[in-house]
This record gives sequence, C-alpha cells and structure tokens, in this order.
Amino acid sequence: MDMRHGVGCVNNCPFCVVPILEPEYRDFIPLKERIEYTSKVFGEQRNLLLLDNNVFASAQFEKIIDDIKTCGFGRNDKYVRPNQLKITVRQLKRGWNDRAYLRRIVRLLGEYKDWVEKHESEERFNYLYSLMSNNGLLHDYTATKTGALNVCKEIAKDYDAWHKRRTHPIVRIVDFNQGLDARLATPERMQKLSEIAIRPLRIAFDNWGYRKHYVRAIKLGAENGIVFSSNYLLYNFKDTPEDLYNRLLINIDLCDALGVNIYSFPMKYHPITNPDYFSNRDYIGEHWNRKFIRAIQSVLNSTHGKIGRCRTFFFKAFGRDLKEFKDLLYMPEAFIIRRWDAEICGLKAEWLKARKAMSAKECEVAYNIVEKNVFEEDAIRKQSARVAAFLSYYLIHEEDIPEALDKVKAAYIAEFEASCSSKVSDVCQELLDQC
Ligand code: SF4
Repeated sequence: MDMRHGVGCVNNCPFCVVPILEPEYRDFIPLKERIEYTSKVFGEQRNLLLLDNNVFASAQFEKIIDDIKTCGFGRNDKYVRPNQLKITVRQLKRGWNDRAYLRRIVRLLGEYKDWVEKHESEERFNYLYSLMSNNGLLHDYTATKTGALNVCKEIAKDYDAWHKRRTHPIVRIVDFNQGLDARLATPERMQKLSEIAIRPLRIAFDNWGYRKHYVRAIKLGAENGIVFSSNYLLYNFKDTPEDLYNRLLINIDLCDALGVNIYSFPMKYHPITNPDYFSNRDYIGEHWNRKFIRAIQSVLNSTHGKIGRCRTFFFKAFGRDLKEFKDLLYMPEAFIIRRWDAEICGLKAEWLKARKAMSAKECEVAYNIVEKNVFEEDAIRKQSARVAAFLSYYLIHEEDIPEALDKVKAAYIAEFEASCSSKVSDVCQELLDQC
C-alpha cells in the first residue's frame, strides 16, 4: 500500500521537481488511521511503500518510525495473508465494482476447485463443481452477484479452513521509495531505521561529490543489519560519464567489502520544467551526447534498468576500467547489445582496428558523427576512406552478428571472468576507512 508521512523537502536540489510540486514541507502525517482504514476495506496488506521525499530531514523522524512499528511493520513483524474470498465477498456486497470483484471470485473459486480435485474425494469435488456450475460460477461471463454470494456463503467455512492451512507468516517490507538523503544519515537515525522492516534501503547517490556521505550511509546501514540497499544514480545532469562509472563501480565494491546487496538504478536527468523539453526526451547534459546516452540505455535495457552486485557482469557491461568504459560509449550499439558474440566473431576487434587506422584528425571527424548517433549510408560514403570504413560498423544490426556456439561462449566468458579483478578498489577501501 502506498502512503506518505511527509510532503515536500527541506532541500532545493537544482535537478529535482519536488520543491516546485510540493513547496511546503510537512514533516509528519500520521499513518495509523489510514492503514487501519485500508486494512478494514481491502484486507491487510503485506508491504508498505512510503513516498516521503526526505524522511531523514524530518524533525519527527523517531515518531515516524514508531508510527510504522505501531502499524505492524517492525523489523520482525510478520504478515499473514488474509482470506481473499472473504474480502472480495465484502466488496461485492458493498457494490463498489461488481464486475471486477465477480471476476476475482470466479478466479479464487477456480483455484479452490482445482485444489479440491487434486487433494480431496471425488464426492467432495463433484459437490463443489455442481454448486459452482448451478450458480454460473465456472466462468466470468456466466457469473452473477446472487450466484457468487450463494456459493461463497455455502462454502465459507471450508474455504476459510483451507486458506488457513495454506497460509504461513511471511516477512513484511517497508520501502521509502523516493530514497533517503545520505548526508543526513547518522548512527542514531540508521539504528532507528533498522527497527522497521526496511528493504531495500534506498539512498540517493546523485554525483561523485557525495561519495563520502554515500559510503558512510551504506556502511551504517550494514552495521545495523540493513543488507539490502539500492540507490538512484542521477546522470546527464552536471556529471560526466566517468562520474557515473565510478559511482557504479563503488557499489560493486561495497557489496564485496561489506557483504551487502546493492542494486543501482541509473536515472537520466530530464528538465521537465523547461518548456523546450515538455514533449520530448531530447535533453543532453553538458558532458553527455546522444551516443553516450544511448549506450547507457542499451546496457540498462538488458537489465531492466538496474545493476546488481555481479562483478563480471558489471565489468563486461561497463568495462573493467575507465578506458574500456569510454570504448563502450563509442561502440556500435549492436556490439553493446550482443557483446559476447561481437567479440567472439572478431567484429569488435575489427572495429578497434579501423579506429586505430585513422589519424587523430580523422578520429575527431568520426567521433563527431558517432556522438550524434545518426548513421546514414549515403552520408558515411561521403567521408574519407578510413572514416567511412570505421563508421560502416555502425550500420551493422544486432541480427547481423553471428551467434557463437554455447561451448565457445562459455569458454570465452570463463576467460573473461578470470581477467576481472576481484579486489575492492583502493578508492572504496579508503572511503570505508575514513567513515
Ligand atoms: S533531497 Fe531529494 S527530494 Fe529533496 S530536493 Fe533534493 S533530490 Fe529532491
């Protein structure tokens, strides 16, 4: 369930729309009544998604955490899924959305019927089947409200017993979805935060300049048993691509150094309050260009937008060092998407060779074209021979790249893995030592 304790923010970050949308900061809005109402109407919910913008900034932070605990979302609190049929019948009786609740009753009864068929006597199954069939509850399109209420009343006790046998207490999750402000993390606040079922601990890591605050916040979380973290990495603002790479790498390092799990979510900056960019996604930050943005998005497409803790994956996706990362930014998109195949079949090596063959001036011309990320055969043909040869690799489509045999690919990946450093970077270690 989505709720919030606070509105607005005490900060005024230049890339953020919160101060415009919510100019007044309110640091405590009680949850309890709203949660009780939601549970009464829709049944108890397992997870609590909090949309507060900056909970650490609240002068009533302790009260917020205590409120969450009182609502049953403490660190060790468990959730028992309520009887959905009972809730749905209640909603159907209220008449709020008969069509949707009838559909749900048909689905729930269908699951119950299938279970009875497999685990109970034929006689019991036949009884249930006939009851549902006679009341038109085998299908959505024959179901009626009267029929549904009849059947549910008839089987309520048995269904409830079946539900209780199958339901086990499970952990709850509290998620401050907008992220927490690392600069405001203190040992006391983190300890207090760990009293609730927080997962993940989302912390904003908006640029490399915040690294000390960020590392300290993750470390404080780990010291308080918060081992699932996640972060928002703003890019395409004032940052450079190298800044993004360093922030991603430090997360991989922190996973290994602290034994935690961190997912990174790079988020592209877009000035939504600027009328020039209302209806498009064209904004390019001062240190970025279309090709770089596309390269990052190509990698993120294959990971559903997030980067996990796997070192090998990270090094392959973004490069083992800044030099490889820069190569990746300029690399043809098809090579990024089909990275292993493009390397195994030699296309990547050919592309690098074509680049090396160009003079510094030719390279500048070629890179200027690449950075615009528009590749047209006619325009490429008009370039000098070496520039055209280099740019021709950008006309290759994913499906043109031959697929390597599984055996060959596995050996290649193993060799790559062996070449990846398993050591936490000195930068990360130094930051951890300072915290
Ligand atoms: S701290 Fe977060 S919510 Fe507040 S202004 Fe900055 S980015 Fe926006």
